[in-house]
Amino acid sequence: MSQSEVLFRRFKNDGIAELKLNPLQKLMKVEVDKKVKTGIYQFEVVDCAVCGSSSNDVLSEKDRYGLFYNVKICRECGFVFTSPRMNQESYNTFYNVEYRKLYGGLEHANETFFIREVEHGRRIAKLLESHEIFLDRDKLVLEIGCGAGGILEAFRQKGMRVKGFDLGEEYVKYGKDKYGLDIEVGTLADYKLDHKPDLIIYSHVMEHVLDTNSEIEMISAICHENTIVYIEVPGIKSIHLNYEKNLLKYFQNAHTFHFSLNTLSNIFCLHGFKLLYGDEKIRSIFKKESCSQSIKNDYFETLKYLRNQERFRTFYLISPFGILKMLNKRLSNLFKLMRSALGSKKQSKC
Ligand SMILES: [Zn+2]
Repeated sequence: MSQSEVLFRRFKNDGIAELKLNPLQKLMKVEVDKKVKTGIYQFEVVDCAVCGSSSNDVLSEKDRYGLFYNVKICRECGFVFTSPRMNQESYNTFYNVEYRKLYGGLEHANETFFIREVEHGRRIAKLLESHEIFLDRDKLVLEIGCGAGGILEAFRQKGMRVKGFDLGEEYVKYGKDKYGLDIEVGTLADYKLDHKPDLIIYSHVMEHVLDTNSEIEMISAICHENTIVYIEVPGIKSIHLNYEKNLLKYFQNAHTFHFSLNTLSNIFCLHGFKLLYGDEKIRSIFKKESCSQSIKNDYFETLKYLRNQERFRTFYLISPFGILKMLNKRLSNLFKLMRSALGSKKQSKC
Protein backbone atom coordinates (compact mmCIF):
# COMPACT_ATOMS: atom_id res chain seq x y z
CA MET A 1 0.00 0.00 0.00
CA SER A 2 1.53 3.37 -0.93
CA GLN A 3 1.64 6.19 1.61
CA SER A 4 -1.11 8.27 -0.06
CA GLU A 5 -3.45 5.36 -0.76
CA VAL A 6 -6.37 4.69 1.59
CA LEU A 7 -6.94 1.10 2.75
CA PHE A 8 -10.45 0.95 1.27
CA ARG A 9 -12.05 3.35 -1.20
CA ARG A 10 -15.05 4.02 1.04
CA PHE A 11 -12.70 5.59 3.62
CA LYS A 12 -11.83 8.49 1.25
CA ASN A 13 -12.79 11.91 2.54
CA ASP A 14 -15.98 12.61 0.58
CA GLY A 15 -17.68 14.37 3.51
CA ILE A 16 -20.47 11.75 3.59
CA ALA A 17 -21.46 10.49 7.05
CA GLU A 18 -21.60 6.74 7.66
CA LEU A 19 -24.11 7.24 10.47
CA LYS A 20 -27.63 8.53 9.95
CA LEU A 21 -27.42 11.96 11.57
CA ASN A 22 -30.30 13.75 13.25
CA PRO A 23 -30.85 17.50 12.54
CA LEU A 24 -28.75 18.58 15.57
CA GLN A 25 -25.89 16.28 14.57
CA LYS A 26 -26.04 17.61 10.99
CA LEU A 27 -25.82 21.16 12.31
CA MET A 28 -22.82 20.28 14.50
CA LYS A 29 -21.09 18.59 11.55
CA VAL A 30 -21.51 21.78 9.48
CA GLU A 31 -20.10 23.82 12.38
CA VAL A 32 -17.05 21.59 12.82
CA ASP A 33 -16.43 21.47 9.03
CA LYS A 34 -16.56 25.25 8.92
CA LYS A 35 -14.06 25.59 11.78
CA VAL A 36 -11.71 23.09 10.12
CA LYS A 37 -11.88 24.86 6.74
CA THR A 38 -11.40 28.35 8.19
CA GLY A 39 -8.51 27.27 10.40
CA ILE A 40 -10.29 27.92 13.69
CA TYR A 41 -9.55 24.30 14.48
CA GLN A 42 -5.81 23.81 14.14
CA PHE A 43 -4.16 20.48 13.32
CA GLU A 44 -0.77 18.99 14.20
CA VAL A 45 1.17 16.16 12.56
CA VAL A 46 2.46 13.48 14.94
CA ASP A 47 4.66 10.42 14.52
CA CYS A 48 4.02 7.01 16.06
CA ALA A 49 3.79 7.38 19.85
CA VAL A 50 5.14 3.86 20.42
CA CYS A 51 8.26 3.62 18.22
CA GLY A 52 8.63 7.21 16.96
CA SER A 53 8.58 6.18 13.29
CA SER A 54 7.14 8.51 10.65
CA SER A 55 6.67 5.67 8.19
CA ASN A 56 2.97 4.83 7.96
CA ASP A 57 0.00 3.97 5.75
CA VAL A 58 -3.31 5.81 5.64
CA LEU A 59 -6.29 3.79 6.83
CA SER A 60 -8.96 6.47 6.63
CA GLU A 61 -9.49 10.10 5.68
CA LYS A 62 -12.85 10.59 7.36
CA ASP A 63 -14.78 9.52 10.44
CA ARG A 64 -18.31 8.18 10.91
CA TYR A 65 -19.73 11.73 10.81
CA GLY A 66 -18.02 12.46 7.48
CA LEU A 67 -15.55 14.81 9.16
CA PHE A 68 -11.91 15.13 8.10
CA TYR A 69 -10.08 12.47 10.10
CA ASN A 70 -6.74 11.04 9.05
CA VAL A 71 -6.04 7.64 10.58
CA LYS A 72 -2.67 5.99 10.02
CA ILE A 73 -0.99 2.71 10.87
CA CYS A 74 2.70 2.68 11.75
CA ARG A 75 4.68 0.41 9.42
CA GLU A 76 7.27 -0.31 12.09
CA CYS A 77 5.04 -1.40 15.00
CA GLY A 78 1.41 -1.42 13.80
CA PHE A 79 0.18 1.32 16.14
CA VAL A 80 -2.94 3.01 14.74
CA PHE A 81 -3.20 6.73 15.38
CA THR A 82 -4.73 9.95 14.11
CA SER A 83 -2.42 12.39 12.31
CA PRO A 84 -2.78 15.20 11.56
CA ARG A 85 -5.07 15.66 14.51
CA MET A 86 -6.60 18.68 16.23
CA ASN A 87 -4.26 20.29 18.74
CA GLN A 88 -5.16 20.41 22.44
CA GLU A 89 -6.66 23.90 22.27
CA SER A 90 -8.93 22.95 19.35
CA TYR A 91 -9.99 19.72 21.08
CA ASN A 92 -10.80 21.68 24.25
CA THR A 93 -13.14 23.95 22.27
CA PHE A 94 -14.62 20.98 20.41
CA TYR A 95 -15.39 19.14 23.69
CA ASN A 96 -17.02 22.26 25.11
CA VAL A 97 -19.08 23.20 22.08
CA GLU A 98 -19.90 20.38 19.68
CA TYR A 99 -18.84 17.03 21.17
CA ARG A 100 -21.94 15.94 23.11
CA LYS A 101 -24.41 17.25 20.56
CA LEU A 102 -22.55 15.62 17.67
CA TYR A 103 -22.10 12.29 19.46
CA GLY A 104 -25.76 12.22 20.46
CA GLY A 105 -24.80 11.71 24.09
CA LEU A 106 -26.64 12.99 27.12
CA GLU A 107 -26.25 16.72 27.47
CA HIS A 108 -27.06 16.53 31.17
CA ALA A 109 -26.02 14.14 33.90
CA ASN A 110 -29.01 12.20 35.22
CA GLU A 111 -29.92 9.11 37.23
CA THR A 112 -30.08 6.78 34.22
CA PHE A 113 -26.55 7.79 33.25
CA PHE A 114 -25.30 7.34 36.82
CA ILE A 115 -26.86 3.89 37.22
CA ARG A 116 -25.29 2.79 33.92
CA GLU A 117 -21.93 3.90 35.30
CA VAL A 118 -22.48 1.93 38.53
CA GLU A 119 -23.30 -1.22 36.54
CA HIS A 120 -20.16 -0.68 34.49
CA GLY A 121 -18.17 -0.33 37.71
CA ARG A 122 -19.56 -3.65 38.97
CA ARG A 123 -18.47 -5.34 35.74
CA ILE A 124 -14.94 -3.94 36.15
CA ALA A 125 -14.83 -5.12 39.78
CA LYS A 126 -15.98 -8.60 38.75
CA LEU A 127 -13.32 -8.80 36.05
CA LEU A 128 -10.60 -7.73 38.49
CA GLU A 129 -11.72 -10.26 41.10
CA SER A 130 -11.82 -13.02 38.51
CA HIS A 131 -8.10 -12.31 37.96
CA GLU A 132 -7.35 -12.46 41.66
CA ILE A 133 -7.16 -8.72 42.15
CA PHE A 134 -8.69 -8.51 45.61
CA LEU A 135 -10.68 -5.40 46.31
CA ASP A 136 -10.15 -5.10 50.05
CA ARG A 137 -11.94 -2.57 52.24
CA ASP A 138 -10.15 0.74 52.77
CA LYS A 139 -8.00 0.41 49.65
CA LEU A 140 -7.89 3.55 47.53
CA VAL A 141 -9.33 3.65 44.01
CA LEU A 142 -8.51 6.55 41.70
CA GLU A 143 -10.43 7.08 38.48
CA ILE A 144 -9.43 9.56 35.78
CA GLY A 145 -12.32 10.61 33.51
CA CYS A 146 -14.82 9.47 36.13
CA GLY A 147 -17.90 11.26 34.71
CA ALA A 148 -20.49 11.49 37.49
CA GLY A 149 -18.55 8.90 39.52
CA GLY A 150 -20.86 5.88 39.06
CA ILE A 151 -17.94 3.50 38.46
CA LEU A 152 -16.35 4.71 41.70
CA GLU A 153 -19.68 4.28 43.50
CA ALA A 154 -19.55 0.54 42.69
CA PHE A 155 -16.17 0.33 44.45
CA ARG A 156 -17.30 2.52 47.36
CA GLN A 157 -20.15 0.06 47.94
CA LYS A 158 -17.43 -2.54 48.50
CA GLY A 159 -16.01 -0.42 51.32
CA MET A 160 -13.16 1.06 49.31
CA ARG A 161 -12.07 4.69 49.43
CA VAL A 162 -12.50 6.50 46.14
CA LYS A 163 -11.19 9.61 44.38
CA GLY A 164 -12.00 10.81 40.87
CA PHE A 165 -11.34 13.54 38.33
CA ASP A 166 -13.27 14.56 35.25
CA LEU A 167 -13.32 17.63 33.03
CA GLY A 168 -17.14 17.67 32.78
CA GLU A 169 -18.22 20.11 35.50
CA GLU A 170 -21.91 19.20 35.38
CA TYR A 171 -21.19 15.48 35.75
CA VAL A 172 -18.82 16.03 38.67
CA LYS A 173 -21.35 18.25 40.41
CA TYR A 174 -24.03 15.55 40.02
CA GLY A 175 -21.93 12.81 41.66
CA LYS A 176 -20.70 15.15 44.38
CA ASP A 177 -24.05 16.71 45.28
CA LYS A 178 -26.30 13.70 44.93
CA TYR A 179 -23.99 10.91 46.11
CA GLY A 180 -21.35 12.76 48.14
CA LEU A 181 -18.54 11.24 46.10
CA ASP A 182 -15.02 12.60 46.45
CA ILE A 183 -14.64 13.72 42.84
CA GLU A 184 -13.27 16.94 41.33
CA VAL A 185 -13.00 18.78 38.05
CA GLY A 186 -9.51 18.07 36.75
CA THR A 187 -7.09 15.50 35.36
CA LEU A 188 -4.39 13.22 36.78
CA ALA A 189 -2.10 16.28 37.10
CA ASP A 190 -4.46 17.52 39.84
CA TYR A 191 -3.99 14.45 42.06
CA LYS A 192 -2.30 15.77 45.18
CA LEU A 193 -2.96 13.14 47.88
CA ASP A 194 0.07 11.76 49.70
CA HIS A 195 -1.37 8.25 49.64
CA LYS A 196 -0.62 6.30 46.47
CA PRO A 197 -3.70 4.61 45.00
CA ASP A 198 -4.09 0.82 45.07
CA LEU A 199 -6.17 0.78 41.89
CA ILE A 200 -6.16 3.30 39.02
CA ILE A 201 -8.97 3.22 36.45
CA TYR A 202 -9.08 4.75 32.97
CA SER A 203 -12.32 3.69 31.31
CA HIS A 204 -12.72 5.00 27.74
CA VAL A 205 -10.31 7.85 28.37
CA MET A 206 -6.89 6.84 27.03
CA GLU A 207 -8.09 6.99 23.39
CA HIS A 208 -8.84 10.71 23.88
CA VAL A 209 -5.50 11.64 25.46
CA LEU A 210 -3.08 13.50 23.15
CA ASP A 211 0.18 12.65 24.94
CA THR A 212 -0.16 9.04 26.06
CA ASN A 213 3.53 8.73 26.97
CA SER A 214 3.37 11.63 29.46
CA GLU A 215 0.10 10.32 30.86
CA ILE A 216 1.60 6.87 31.53
CA GLU A 217 4.67 8.50 33.09
CA MET A 218 2.37 10.41 35.45
CA ILE A 219 0.53 7.17 36.28
CA SER A 220 3.87 5.51 37.00
CA ALA A 221 4.86 8.31 39.38
CA ILE A 222 1.85 7.72 41.66
CA CYS A 223 1.98 3.90 41.69
CA HIS A 224 3.28 1.91 44.64
CA GLU A 225 4.74 -1.54 44.02
CA ASN A 226 1.34 -3.28 44.09
CA THR A 227 -0.83 -0.68 42.36
CA ILE A 228 -3.06 -2.16 39.70
CA VAL A 229 -3.85 -0.09 36.59
CA TYR A 230 -7.07 -0.92 34.74
CA ILE A 231 -7.35 0.41 31.18
CA GLU A 232 -10.44 0.09 29.02
CA VAL A 233 -10.52 1.45 25.45
CA PRO A 234 -12.43 0.53 22.28
CA GLY A 235 -10.17 -2.05 20.62
CA ILE A 236 -9.54 -1.77 16.89
CA LYS A 237 -9.66 -5.58 16.70
CA SER A 238 -13.15 -5.75 18.20
CA ILE A 239 -15.01 -4.41 15.16
CA HIS A 240 -16.57 -7.86 14.65
CA LEU A 241 -18.25 -7.52 18.07
CA ASN A 242 -19.47 -3.93 17.84
CA TYR A 243 -20.13 -1.00 15.51
CA GLU A 244 -22.36 -3.16 13.29
CA LYS A 245 -19.12 -4.81 12.13
CA ASN A 246 -18.27 -1.59 10.32
CA LEU A 247 -14.80 -0.04 10.80
CA LEU A 248 -16.04 3.30 9.52
CA LYS A 249 -18.54 3.45 12.39
CA TYR A 250 -15.67 2.85 14.83
CA PHE A 251 -13.67 5.87 13.61
CA GLN A 252 -14.74 9.02 15.47
CA ASN A 253 -12.89 12.31 15.48
CA ALA A 254 -12.53 12.51 19.27
CA HIS A 255 -10.30 9.42 19.29
CA THR A 256 -6.63 10.10 18.73
CA PHE A 257 -5.42 6.52 19.24
CA HIS A 258 -6.85 3.16 18.22
CA PHE A 259 -5.33 0.42 20.31
CA SER A 260 -5.02 -3.31 19.83
CA LEU A 261 -4.01 -5.31 22.90
CA ASN A 262 -0.48 -5.60 21.46
CA THR A 263 -0.03 -1.88 20.81
CA LEU A 264 -1.49 -0.91 24.19
CA SER A 265 0.80 -3.42 25.85
CA ASN A 266 3.76 -2.04 23.80
CA ILE A 267 3.26 1.52 24.98
CA PHE A 268 2.75 0.53 28.65
CA CYS A 269 5.79 -1.71 28.51
CA LEU A 270 7.91 1.26 27.40
CA HIS A 271 7.09 2.83 30.77
CA GLY A 272 7.73 -0.26 32.87
CA PHE A 273 4.25 -1.81 33.08
CA LYS A 274 3.57 -5.46 32.54
CA LEU A 275 0.27 -6.71 31.12
CA LEU A 276 -1.38 -9.12 33.59
CA TYR A 277 -4.57 -9.64 31.61
CA GLY A 278 -6.17 -8.21 28.49
CA ASP A 279 -8.58 -8.90 25.66
CA GLU A 280 -9.21 -7.22 22.33
CA LYS A 281 -12.33 -5.37 23.50
CA ILE A 282 -10.03 -3.83 25.27
CA ARG A 283 -10.21 -4.46 29.03
CA SER A 284 -6.73 -4.73 30.44
CA ILE A 285 -4.89 -4.98 33.75
CA PHE A 286 -1.33 -3.68 34.18
CA LYS A 287 1.13 -3.62 37.02
CA LYS A 288 4.43 -1.80 37.40
CA GLU A 289 6.98 -4.54 36.92
CA SER A 290 10.08 -4.78 34.81
CA CYS A 291 8.92 -5.49 31.30
CA SER A 292 11.58 -7.20 29.27
CA GLN A 293 9.54 -7.75 26.12
CA SER A 294 10.60 -5.83 23.01
CA ILE A 295 8.00 -4.02 20.90
CA LYS A 296 5.76 -6.55 19.17
CA ASN A 297 5.08 -5.49 15.59
CA ASP A 298 1.31 -5.60 15.08
CA TYR A 299 1.30 -4.11 11.54
CA PHE A 300 0.58 -7.25 9.52
CA GLU A 301 -1.82 -8.74 12.08
CA THR A 302 -3.87 -5.52 12.26
CA LEU A 303 -4.02 -5.04 8.49
CA LYS A 304 -5.02 -8.67 8.05
CA TYR A 305 -7.78 -8.28 10.64
CA LEU A 306 -9.12 -5.07 9.06
CA ARG A 307 -9.08 -6.52 5.54
CA ASN A 308 -10.88 -9.67 6.71
CA GLN A 309 -13.36 -7.53 8.59
CA GLU A 310 -14.13 -5.47 5.51
CA ARG A 311 -14.67 -8.65 3.47
CA PHE A 312 -16.83 -10.16 6.20
CA ARG A 313 -18.92 -6.96 6.42
CA THR A 314 -19.99 -7.37 2.77
CA PHE A 315 -21.16 -10.95 3.44
CA TYR A 316 -22.81 -9.89 6.68
CA LEU A 317 -24.84 -7.16 4.96
CA ILE A 318 -26.40 -9.62 2.52
CA SER A 319 -26.76 -12.50 5.02
CA PRO A 320 -30.22 -13.35 6.50
CA PHE A 321 -28.93 -12.15 9.90
CA GLY A 322 -27.74 -8.83 8.45
CA ILE A 323 -31.00 -8.29 6.55
CA LEU A 324 -33.05 -9.14 9.67
CA LYS A 325 -31.03 -6.70 11.77
CA MET A 326 -31.47 -3.94 9.16
CA LEU A 327 -35.27 -4.57 9.05
CA ASN A 328 -35.40 -4.52 12.85
CA LYS A 329 -33.57 -1.20 12.95
CA ARG A 330 -35.89 0.33 10.34
CA LEU A 331 -38.97 -0.90 12.21
CA SER A 332 -37.75 0.48 15.54
CA ASN A 333 -37.02 3.84 13.82
CA LEU A 334 -40.56 3.80 12.40
CA PHE A 335 -42.03 3.10 15.87
CA LYS A 336 -39.94 5.92 17.33
CA LEU A 337 -41.28 8.31 14.67
CA MET A 338 -44.87 7.14 15.30
CA ARG A 339 -44.46 7.56 19.06
CA SER A 340 -43.07 11.09 18.73
CA ALA A 341 -45.86 11.99 16.22
CA LEU A 342 -48.50 10.69 18.67
CA GLY A 343 -46.80 12.61 21.49
CA SER A 344 -46.86 15.92 19.61
CA LYS A 345 -50.55 15.28 18.66
CA LYS A 346 -51.41 14.81 22.36
CA GLN A 347 -49.50 17.98 23.26
CA SER A 348 -51.32 20.05 20.64
CA LYS A 349 -54.69 18.79 22.04
CA CYS A 350 -53.64 19.94 25.52
ZN1 LIG B 1 5.35 2.65 15.55
